[in-house]
Amino acid sequence: MPLTGIEIFKLLPKTNCGECGVPTCLAFAMNLAAGKAELAKCPKLSEESKAKLQEASAPPIRPVTIGTGNRVFKTGGETVLFRHEKRFENPTGIAVLVKDTMALPEIDGRLVRLNTLVYERVGLKLKADLVAVKEESNDTARFAETVTRVKSATDAGIILISFNPDIMAAGLKACADRKPLVYGVTKDNVEKMATLAKANSCPLGIKTVSLDEAAELTAKLNQLGINDIVIDSGARTVRKAFEEQVMIRSTALVKKFRPLGFPTITFPAEMTGDPMKEAVIASMMVAKYSGIVVLSDLQGESLFPLLVERLNLFTDPQRPLATTPGIYEIGGPDKNAPVLITSNFSLTYFIVSGEIENSRIPAWLMVMDTEGLSVMTAWAAGKFVADNIGAFVKKSGITEKVTHRKLVIPGYAAIEAGALEEELPEWQILVGPRDGAHIPAYLKTWQP
Ligand code: SF4
Repeated sequence: MPLTGIEIFKLLPKTNCGECGVPTCLAFAMNLAAGKAELAKCPKLSEESKAKLQEASAPPIRPVTIGTGNRVFKTGGETVLFRHEKRFENPTGIAVLVKDTMALPEIDGRLVRLNTLVYERVGLKLKADLVAVKEESNDTARFAETVTRVKSATDAGIILISFNPDIMAAGLKACADRKPLVYGVTKDNVEKMATLAKANSCPLGIKTVSLDEAAELTAKLNQLGINDIVIDSGARTVRKAFEEQVMIRSTALVKKFRPLGFPTITFPAEMTGDPMKEAVIASMMVAKYSGIVVLSDLQGESLFPLLVERLNLFTDPQRPLATTPGIYEIGGPDKNAPVLITSNFSLTYFIVSGEIENSRIPAWLMVMDTEGLSVMTAWAAGKFVADNIGAFVKKSGITEKVTHRKLVIPGYAAIEAGALEEELPEWQILVGPRDGAHIPAYLKTWQP
């Protein structure tokens, strides 16, 4: 059981030196108990206290990693029930299912879609993360061959699915170096699966029939020296799966019940045969609170909305996505090309730059640091106003890139035009459109 704030306080040095960022050891202890502080912030802890407190400061949902290299996938590590309380830490992993009974072209098709369905949004590459290889053939060699085929086709994380430890051993032999998730631990095979996972330093996925059984299995695995666990509660109806996802998360977070403090995995395709419903169920599981969602296949029309939903949920609500300030060249502009300025809210930047590209008129886009706020919000907060814009333009070096002196400001900042002309007397200030969609038409009227 995690320690309470007072129990943590008893283990602290009690010097109230403030080096941890709060004035007293008691305040630090309370923050630690609430998961709002990191143990490493106190430099004065004894080794003995540190060891004891590591248990208290560990996230209530254990972080688990699958895979290696630049495609390593991390799940768990969550500390809150609701995004607005702090943030969600590790985005739900999206996996595609491959069965060893499938025809090779079908397997290859899924792997191609896994590798090629990649979408760019606000400067990020969105794609599925994992491939789940399921043994259905009851054939050791066939399973191993399928795993080998998958391994050579993608560097994504691998989930091995089999309930037979001998067959699992063959699959593991083919890809142990990729640190797959070994899924298929039940109360009947737990010892053998634990031995396999331990020998290969891989995380384990358990499948149970109830949350009570899940808690017993994780406790048993902990006794066997396995701590990296992913829970499948076994629910295969939408309602039960949803309820159990919420129960696992809240029991681990609110009740601090460690045996359920692990990330989860769900299989929407095993709850419906309708691809559309599968996508809807997957969307529910991304929101509440699946660590990994295994899809029967990847199709752009369902994958893209899931990826965007995931992006929206797993961004930090306290930190807007921001683009690096600077001067961006779009379409190879020359000294006569238009100069536009906008804020560094990522979505604004990508809309404006996308519309400039659509216009096919090369331009210079100046992106000013507004701490990730949109033009309207930044203007209201006094960050996208004449003083700041003027100072940014003067320092930016744009005068060396163009011979004209015309600056297009966003329509939403039109009110700053007069003051900006005073700040930048050499420049003519032009008010551009409010809506990004009107930028191409506006640029077509451009005269240097
Ligand atoms: Fe107490 Fe450590 Fe914080 Fe100093 S740094 S106030 S000793 S908790």
